Amino acid sequence: MCGIVGFTGKHQAAPILLDGLSKLEYRGYDSAGIAVRDGENETEVIKAKGRLKVLIEKTNGGESVPGTCGIGHTRWATHGGVTNANAHPHKVGNVALIHNGIIENYHEIVNKYDLADSLISETDTEVAAALINKLYDGDPKATIKKVVAELQGSFAFCIMFKDQPGKIFAVRNVSPMVATYCDDGAFIASDLTAFIKYSKRYFILPEYTIMIMTAD
Ligand code: GLU
Repeated sequence: MCGIVGFTGKHQAAPILLDGLSKLEYRGYDSAGIAVRDGENETEVIKAKGRLKVLIEKTNGGESVPGTCGIGHTRWATHGGVTNANAHPHKVGNVALIHNGIIENYHEIVNKYDLADSLISETDTEVAAALINKLYDGDPKATIKKVVAELQGSFAFCIMFKDQPGKIFAVRNVSPMVATYCDDGAFIASDLTAFIKYSKRYFILPEYTIMIMTAD
């Protein structure tokens, strides 16, 4: 179970995400990635196997990925090898998603919802992204609610939808997630050390509560 960070606000997201992920390095991980969106533009996903340093170099410290809304992840592989394809974020159709934890019934979900054709990784995580994408009807909250009701296991998810620019949706079960906001924007992380320099006030996202983060 590794690291999650998310930011939407008044600053460029990528440098904040990379800095937050660096604070979570002590937890151990095998790959890292970010998804960043510039206004209504397509969400850009950059991933790198190995140390966070590789991702930082690949993105020129985040400068090559403009946008004020984004999510970042350090992965500790539980399902599928250590590859760029298996690293998070996973983008399936209209959905970009990061996940900490393990989805135990992902095989059943692939079969029940006929998702095999939309998957390109070996992870349990991508199945959740594919299911959200498949069931999405324009109402993120209702869709997330439907999807998490299907999942067994532990999860902390941050999700971005194509038609919801500037917003990050979060939900968890067992796996931790804390959030905060300040004049700069809203932050979420699996561990508050990722954003403590921006705000010392924070709250723990209650289990199965869907949070919608916006810049204000
Ligand atoms: N089970 C997921 C994977 O193998 C998430 C692992 C994690 O928590 O980093 O990609």
